[in-house]
Amino acid sequence: MTQKRTVAFSRKSTNLFFHITTQCNLACQHCYINPEQHGTNHLLLSTITAWLESFSRNSDSKNLIFLGGEPTLHPDLPAAIKHARKLGFGSITVDTNGYLFHDILFNVTPGELDFFSFSLDGATRETNDRIRGMGSYDTCIAGIRKAVSRGFSTSLIYTVSSENIHELEKMAAFLQDLGVDKFFIQVIGLRGRSAIREHNASASKGLQVSRSQWLDSVPRVGQMIAELGISVTYPKVFLNQDEEFECAGLVADNYFIFPNGRVYRCPLCEDFPIHSMVLEENQLIPAAKLNESDFFQLKIPEGCVMNKLIQPQNLSYDTQGKPEYKIGCCLLKEEIVKNELKGR
Ligand code: SF4
Ligand code: SF4
Repeated sequence: MTQKRTVAFSRKSTNLFFHITTQCNLACQHCYINPEQHGTNHLLLSTITAWLESFSRNSDSKNLIFLGGEPTLHPDLPAAIKHARKLGFGSITVDTNGYLFHDILFNVTPGELDFFSFSLDGATRETNDRIRGMGSYDTCIAGIRKAVSRGFSTSLIYTVSSENIHELEKMAAFLQDLGVDKFFIQVIGLRGRSAIREHNASASKGLQVSRSQWLDSVPRVGQMIAELGISVTYPKVFLNQDEEFECAGLVADNYFIFPNGRVYRCPLCEDFPIHSMVLEENQLIPAAKLNESDFFQLKIPEGCVMNKLIQPQNLSYDTQGKPEYKIGCCLLKEEIVKNELKGR
């Protein structure tokens, strides 16, 4: 038996998505990093620690996710993790493409880091490497196996697109064999390279999947994988008209921090200079208006304003011009767990 629930936005905990570098060894076709908007630098360790400190009050209820680019390319990542642990962050995760540079598995311990979260975008080498680059499949799998064998908890992120939705089902047995604890299914957003591809007239096909493709596949496969004892989380992309819509930018406490000091509250805004906050002299201060916080206030029948602005092709209208469904906040998640996992 599994239990499925919508994970409401938590008003009590804070999530910091901390991009400590924008540099990466890969060039995935859907990469959301946009150097024009996010900069091209590694942060100095002294800046990382100062920024962590500026967010660390009541830190036991704060979840910290180190990201990049590829965060393990940053030679000071172990020191940053240890510093965050001393500051008392509630959970610490490193999102990685699996290359695990600078011997990261030997320079932090499972006691210091809650999760390594690996990105893989295909159940087969052929599909994953077409999206993420030659050799990335074998390297990522070897990285997962090494992390599991060293006692780290691991999760896997699979970004669903038109290129790989057909292989989602094959991930079930594969995840079990790898010994992964959690599976995150992500929806592709039109940001960074995927936005360029979408707007490029010569591109063969867009990366986004349709509503029916998503609904036919993701909940069913999520259920199947949860039956194996692996917890599954995916965004609740589509809401019926009678379901309540909330914008995380108004009701939740998420910060997407970039090395150039920009701090966004909504990931869909990251392709534009509309961040609502900025880190200046290690202090978090409001950014100039207009910015994303003005968009969050807008109430529209389609649900998420940023979806309507940047990916309106996800919407559908009836003959009277009314939206047939709402697009939920990309931060609203469905979680499926096997019952005996509850409380672990
Ligand atoms: S998606 Fe991640 S691994 Fe791929 S190029 Fe971008 S930062 Fe690197
Ligand atoms: S994705 Fe939409 S609903 Fe969610 S925070 Fe951004 S603007 Fe708000």
